[in-house]
Amino acid sequence: MKLVCVDCNKEVSADLFDYQCTCGGLFDIVHDTAQLDAEFLKRVFHDRLSERMTPYASGVWRYKELIFPELADEYITTKYEGNTGLYASEQIQSYTGSNRKVLLKAQSENPSGSFKDNGMTVAVSHGRSLGYQRFTCTSTGNTSSSLAMYASLANQESYVFVPNKNISLNKVLQTLAYGANVISFDGTYDDGIRFYEQHSKELGLYICNSINPFRIEGQKSIVYEIAQYLNWNLPDWVVIPGGALSNVTALGKGLQDLKKLGFIDKLPRVALVQAEGASPFHRMVAEGRTELVPEPTPYTRASALNIGNPPSWKKALRTLEETNGVTCSVTDQEILDAKAWVDKSGIGCEPASAATVAGLRKLIAQQVIDKDETAVCILTGNMLKDTDALHEYHLGESSTTSYKNAIRPAELTLDSIQSIL
Ligand SMILES: *Cc1c(COP(=O)(O)O)cnc(C)c1O
Ligand SMILES: [Zn+2]
Repeated sequence: MKLVCVDCNKEVSADLFDYQCTCGGLFDIVHDTAQLDAEFLKRVFHDRLSERMTPYASGVWRYKELIFPELADEYITTKYEGNTGLYASEQIQSYTGSNRKVLLKAQSENPSGSFKDNGMTVAVSHGRSLGYQRFTCTSTGNTSSSLAMYASLANQESYVFVPNKNISLNKVLQTLAYGANVISFDGTYDDGIRFYEQHSKELGLYICNSINPFRIEGQKSIVYEIAQYLNWNLPDWVVIPGGALSNVTALGKGLQDLKKLGFIDKLPRVALVQAEGASPFHRMVAEGRTELVPEPTPYTRASALNIGNPPSWKKALRTLEETNGVTCSVTDQEILDAKAWVDKSGIGCEPASAATVAGLRKLIAQQVIDKDETAVCILTGNMLKDTDALHEYHLGESSTTSYKNAIRPAELTLDSIQSIL
């Protein structure tokens, strides 16, 4: 395993761990895969599905050979993350206008309620192997909940920096409850990242943001798991939301692994969906530019996507190029209506995740995705991560909530109840 700079291709030994190259570029982890055999590993990964209470019972560490083979098992901090449901939904098929059942990968079922767990278990385990005892991140909420959970599980300290507005209180409360030191600041996620870039060394903290390439390695497991559950036959499209763009980066990297090693024959196409108020990457692609212009005042109700200067945009661009991918943006209204459908389909997700279903619907309407093509949408976070959004939609005054499900006050008389049934 070695670290390779995305900008200047400089190679660094993974033992000399750093988040950024001297040129300012981010690092990619590159594994030595010469000894790996796909058919053998498919059997190993299959056998591990029956593990209990070992690191290999995790839906991330099941794929350790492709993620972090060198790590000694004693450092692994796991809550058996991953292992999440993959559902074929007729309701979402009908909402998106597809002719095929739409698959939904519910990363919302992770132990802290979001896909951040897939990456965080690897980052915290790596940090522990280097002897760190204090872990940190800047977060729109879910990264902090996840870090707080793993740090406490490993009996280590965590320090999380959260913007003091446009962030879900549920996530902050979860982070506090797990015992993290929560530091609230006046600024955006992007300001928090900039602070780290300047001061991480002096603080001596292990950084768990997605500029940390070990997070990306762990998040690759999402697409490994989808592929394994489908007997290594992926659908035509994988639809994913984008904020900091770490997840789409991991998706592309995971797909490349599967293709290069011969687990799959053909790469699916990736559709990346951003929220309109925080869509600098989509705008760059749509306008045919090759440099990202940050959005100085990002705003979307889907708070997990509220990022104006995504650190991983160059890596994300590589995913798009390699998979013949597309991007689109959706409005908050489209997100919240799609969320209402995901919720009432019995699966449920937080607003940011529903951008995928809203995006699939739009891309089918625009005939970018054919009605007869198959698709999987990655649902990134849990329905209860943002109860304010549920409250506003179902119990609020707004008349623009098309799929509102209001409470029905009734007297407990037979007539009154019969009139409801
Ligand atoms: C972090 C997050 C995203 C965005 O993922 P990136 O890797 O930042 O693009 C989307 N949805 C949820 C629920 C998240 O927590
Ligand atoms: Zn470099």
